[in-house]
Amino acid sequence: MSNRVFSVILLPTAECNVACTYCFEHKEPHRLSLGLVPRLTGRLLDHIEHEGIKECEIYWQGGEVMIMGPAWFVEAGQLMDAAAAARGRRFTHYLQTNLISYTPVWNDVLFNMFGGSLGTSMDYPNDHRKLFKGGPAAYTTLWTQRLREAQAAGLQIGVIAVLHQGSLEVGPEAFYRYYTEELGLTSFQVNTPFPGGPAKAVAAEFDLDKVALGEFLGGLFDVWMERGHGRGISLGPFDELIHHFTGVPSRLPCIWKENCSNQFISIDAKGTVAQCDCWVTSYPESFFGNVLRDPNLTDMLSTSPGRRQFVERPKHLVEHEDCLECRFLSICHGGCPVRTYSALGTMLAKDPYCEVYKVIFARAEKYGRALLLSQPGAKAPPPRSGPARLPTAATP
Ligand code: SF4
Ligand code: SF4
Ligand code: SF4
Repeated sequence: MSNRVFSVILLPTAECNVACTYCFEHKEPHRLSLGLVPRLTGRLLDHIEHEGIKECEIYWQGGEVMIMGPAWFVEAGQLMDAAAAARGRRFTHYLQTNLISYTPVWNDVLFNMFGGSLGTSMDYPNDHRKLFKGGPAAYTTLWTQRLREAQAAGLQIGVIAVLHQGSLEVGPEAFYRYYTEELGLTSFQVNTPFPGGPAKAVAAEFDLDKVALGEFLGGLFDVWMERGHGRGISLGPFDELIHHFTGVPSRLPCIWKENCSNQFISIDAKGTVAQCDCWVTSYPESFFGNVLRDPNLTDMLSTSPGRRQFVERPKHLVEHEDCLECRFLSICHGGCPVRTYSALGTMLAKDPYCEVYKVIFARAEKYGRALLLSQPGAKAPPPRSGPARLPTAATP
């Protein structure tokens, strides 16, 4: 059986309890019913069985997943895990939540189904995450309170930060201090923004100057190497790049995978299948099919015209872009299709963050070389201190 892992970003609802300005979700009042979970589970198991894959990672997110309630998760998890065990397969569950409705009532399911860890999101400064009643400051206060409660319960928490103009203005040092010192986190990651779907309304705020963004990320890399690397602070995606450049097996984010379509799909509450959460909520023209209606997921993925462009993108890039001459091609593979599509209206071009990526890769290469020279034993992987990260970088 293959060691490959298949990853599914499963959105049981698109509803949300907050109102972020950059949200790309279409917040329809639709929820995945427990009655449909066995059919969905069966289709996933058929597919991984056909591919000879033992493990399927399920990344639960929304909308806001906690809207489904802990009892729904207990039942859905039991249904899925029992069906997988009966076929000699395994689901591993991860949760991405905005934490706003977290209470200790969730702890049992978080420890039993999600291994005691969860992922959430907060930007610094928070200019765009808002409650329905109350602006960003009220959101930050409530989210921080929930974070403290979850930390006190012993949960491992990883935080995604979406960079925006305000982050560049505060600078990398204050940014780093906020997550590590003020919030006391040992695991966070930075995502580059993109205006998917309705978020185009605030596109200008996220159309960051690429030189300034490269300088910010390079500076953040420096601060982390000086204060956090090797000291229990995991900062993605820099940590995985350091692994890569020191010869340690790495798990780079989807944006730099050889082809994200080889490993992920996203499924929404109605069963719609697309590449990842941004595509499934923002770009109906790219849907692959419907897992609740189409009986064979393997056939859907191999015949879907929507998926063909993803599959063919890397070949197109080496033929039509300058990626072939790039020394980082084997790490980057031309970057993320959705970032490209949201900026250029086509995915058949290299990622608009190309120059930013080159800055980060060069930094990682420099630090990786220095580590190898200074520590001949640097091949041992540093301990991972945080929960597994979301497999895609689409989540805002
Ligand atoms: S970005 Fe996430 S948390 Fe914010 S409104 Fe959209 S779905 Fe909700
Ligand atoms: S965020 Fe980009 S690279 Fe990742 S799965 Fe989506 S389209 Fe692919
Ligand atoms: S860094 Fe730029 S040129 Fe190099 S592979 Fe990535 S997108 Fe292509």
